Amino acid sequence: MPHGSNVMLVRRPIAPGTPALFLDRDGVVNIDTGYLADPESVTLRDGAATMIAAFNAAAWPVVIVSNQSGLGRGYFDLCTMLAVQEQIEVLLLHEGAYVNAVFLCGTAPNDVSPLAEWRKPAPGMLTTAGQLYDIDLTRSVLVGDKITDMQAAAAAGLLLGFLVDDGFVADIQTVPFPIHTVDHLADISPAALLSWQTLESS
Ligand SMILES: [Mg+2]
Repeated sequence: MPHGSNVMLVRRPIAPGTPALFLDRDGVVNIDTGYLADPESVTLRDGAATMIAAFNAAAWPVVIVSNQSGLGRGYFDLCTMLAVQEQIEVLLLHEGAYVNAVFLCGTAPNDVSPLAEWRKPAPGMLTTAGQLYDIDLTRSVLVGDKITDMQAAAAAGLLLGFLVDDGFVADIQTVPFPIHTVDHLADISPAALLSWQTLESS
């Protein structure tokens, strides 16, 4: 019997018809220590709160979309997964930033149940958020640290992706999707998006 579950957390209202900032969690919002299971050890990534607060201020919904296969693998239980998520959001709130919704896919890689449709690189978390909240996916962006994040964003029809860290830069060409690499999360803001789009369309 697999342990996997998918979880959706509704935190703040989302106005219909708007684009969203989708965020991978581990390695983007917080430091990725691998199957994070201890709320006490959560550390935010440099610039994550600054980036999120900039989108909060511009009324962009911010939505976490995170694979948590440690649940399905039996490495941690549902309570632990939720406690870690809560701690991340508490740390963000301390820095004046919040997320509007959270999608966690707790299936193991070998799970073939319908729950696995949420597991990136599949676009299920993004498309479900799009349908539930009437988010304009075609104008939405995603920040991730793995090529599977970019694949999910491409499959969901997002506008573009931001890849932090350079471990997967060589794979960018394999995804038919506009991907920007960034060194600092704080460089990603609604204002910066406008200038990137202007550059691309000129
Ligand atoms: Mg990640």
